Amino acid sequence: MTTRLHNVRSIETGAPVELFAQEGRWSERSPNVDREIDGLGRFVAPPFVDCHCHVLPTGLDLSKVNLDACNSHQDVLDVIAGALRDVRNGWLLAVRYDQTRYDGKHLTLRELDAVSPSVPILLRHVSGHASVANSAALIAAEVGEDVQDPPGGEFVREADGRLTGVLLESAHEFVSERTPAPDLDGMIDAIRLACESMSEMGIVAACDMMTGRFDLVQELLAYDAVLASGSVVDTVLYVQWREVFGSRGIGAARFADCVRDLRHARLGGVKLFADGAIGSGTAAIHGRYEGGTGAGKLIYPPDELTRRVLTAHDAGYSVAVHAIGDRAVDVVMDAFEATGEPQLHRLEHAMLLSDAQIERIARAGCTVTFQPEFLLRFGHSYRRQLGPERTALLKRSRSVVSAGVPLAYSSDRPIVPGNPMHGVNTAATRPDGFSQAESVTRDEAFHLYTKAAAVASGMHDLGLRVGDRAKAALFDRNPIHDPEATVAQLISLD
Ligand SMILES: [Zn+2]
Repeated sequence: MTTRLHNVRSIETGAPVELFAQEGRWSERSPNVDREIDGLGRFVAPPFVDCHCHVLPTGLDLSKVNLDACNSHQDVLDVIAGALRDVRNGWLLAVRYDQTRYDGKHLTLRELDAVSPSVPILLRHVSGHASVANSAALIAAEVGEDVQDPPGGEFVREADGRLTGVLLESAHEFVSERTPAPDLDGMIDAIRLACESMSEMGIVAACDMMTGRFDLVQELLAYDAVLASGSVVDTVLYVQWREVFGSRGIGAARFADCVRDLRHARLGGVKLFADGAIGSGTAAIHGRYEGGTGAGKLIYPPDELTRRVLTAHDAGYSVAVHAIGDRAVDVVMDAFEATGEPQLHRLEHAMLLSDAQIERIARAGCTVTFQPEFLLRFGHSYRRQLGPERTALLKRSRSVVSAGVPLAYSSDRPIVPGNPMHGVNTAATRPDGFSQAESVTRDEAFHLYTKAAAVASGMHDLGLRVGDRAKAALFDRNPIHDPEATVAQLISLD
């Protein structure tokens, strides 16, 4: 069976081209065509790959109430009241609550109680670092008026000492963890939903960077089931270290069995966190945050991080480590170099990098993943935490590419909406307050979100060369020249 894709244009030259596919791969020109696809004059490009995101959580969020369109407290309360009748699992969970878009004051538990005193309601803040709960949610999470603030978090109180329902950082996590976890069918539905929304953006493969958040074995089964039923988005799984090797993990032997049983989903490796985030002042940095609020924090002492990296490396897995601050990057590079094969491992985020660190990463050959859309969404919180000078140099794409570091772009959805074109546009024209000297060209940005991201995901055969898997994105306009270009169709012939 030979397919011919015709009436499409090259993104490099704009000239008409045709592509042939045989047995799921792009092939040489062939006179024996069984099937024709008319590309309607669109631009044919390699498909996008999101090499760092959270697939299952994206799908779960898509089935929660979305508060993105709300521009006042009353809007939020109206949307919540309207959603009450569709409550599943007993809780009403909403995402993308953002009071900073209107008067800046948080909603309170009392306002939410007026909507429902009995259904637990939890609104997650768009930052992912806070939420607002009603009384029923606090009761369901076993949080009483006498609760103590957990380390690194706060149950915000009124002047008279009563809880307001506003939950910050670890207090927010404490209550979130007590919301109902999805079962296998719920996971399958959510992964499918996430993959459908990604395919609409022209994405054909995605790395899930925290598999095992709810239940590792069930999640592996769920990803495999979605692919078995014909998902167009391939998933590559990076499994949380502690769910395999931790004291309550399933253990290396059982994990190896589970991986062997995967028929469709692929294992990318093992994921660790070295630090937190800039917005919350928890990324481990050299120097201090503005306002003297500390230098962030390493999640593990350096020798413990090295031990964890070595455990996974010695068991035969590639390791991807979340390191946002420059101090965390030093510690992670020490750990990667201790393996003797640093080029097998991935540095995630690496937002703050010195010239010397970039040279070190280039020498070691580690892959780095950036999330350019962060600059578009979180600039204000970076400036508050780091001041204008350090903020201007976050995510140094130009320097990293010029040093020869294998760099790849991604979204980290659901933290951001995650349309790859927004990432491409942001990397090519950095927003106000970010140094233009660290921009890349649109060609480079597009490459970093397509072929380079495919390689970083272990999929070297995604592209438009003969022999590559026959997948392509058809754009209405040329994405290399036009920031408004959108994916009109995804071609998947394998
Ligand atoms: Zn992430």
